[in-house]
Amino acid sequence: MSDKGLLIVLSGPSGVGKDTVLRHVESENEDVNVSVSLTTREMREGEINGKSYYFVERGYFERKLGEDAFLEYAEYGGNLYGTPKAPVDAMLARGDNVILEIEVQGAEKIRKLYPDCVSIFILPPSLSVLESRLRGRSSDDEETILRRLLIAREEIKRCVEYDYIVINDDVRKAVDEVVGIIRAEALRTDRNKQKIKEVLNNE
Ligand code: 5GP
Repeated sequence: MSDKGLLIVLSGPSGVGKDTVLRHVESENEDVNVSVSLTTREMREGEINGKSYYFVERGYFERKLGEDAFLEYAEYGGNLYGTPKAPVDAMLARGDNVILEIEVQGAEKIRKLYPDCVSIFILPPSLSVLESRLRGRSSDDEETILRRLLIAREEIKRCVEYDYIVINDDVRKAVDEVVGIIRAEALRTDRNKQKIKEVLNNE
């Protein structure tokens, strides 16, 4: 829609359901692509290498860092996560919208690097809802759940750094809101200078 693709940054605490929202947005909108990050963490059940992440050894990740292959990277929960530069730049140049699902430190770096990116933070309806989702979804022990909640609270405090918040109390509504944000952002006049010129030049 706009002159070039939009770079969309999506963050939210663990357990907020951002993966589900993202999968719907991706499968229902052909002009939206989700960037696949590299990570050094272990693959979880149900994850697919090359789709959820590229699961790599720490040594490989560090080599890629040395080659300046990442747009950004961060350490989270003892594991490294990074957004590969080349595919994202290629998709944006093609005019595709690209979503990065990354944590708050990475989002901060992307905002500096791409000031015209669009950032969205997915919030839970409340911390107690987040807690029951975290307890319900996993076999994690009490200590892990409490640690995640502590991290979640710190991350949620930083939602004010984002352009938009979407409260995930209903997946359908959250998906529609994310898509609505992307559509409206693509129509901004400052993203469509080329289109405006074309209209004026084609009498
Ligand atoms: P998980 O291990 O639960 O898949 O992800 C942990 C956190 O890392 C999530 O907040 C996720 O959004 C974030 N994350 C995933 N990929 C990247 C990335 O490439 N860069 C950064 N900075 N964070 C990422």
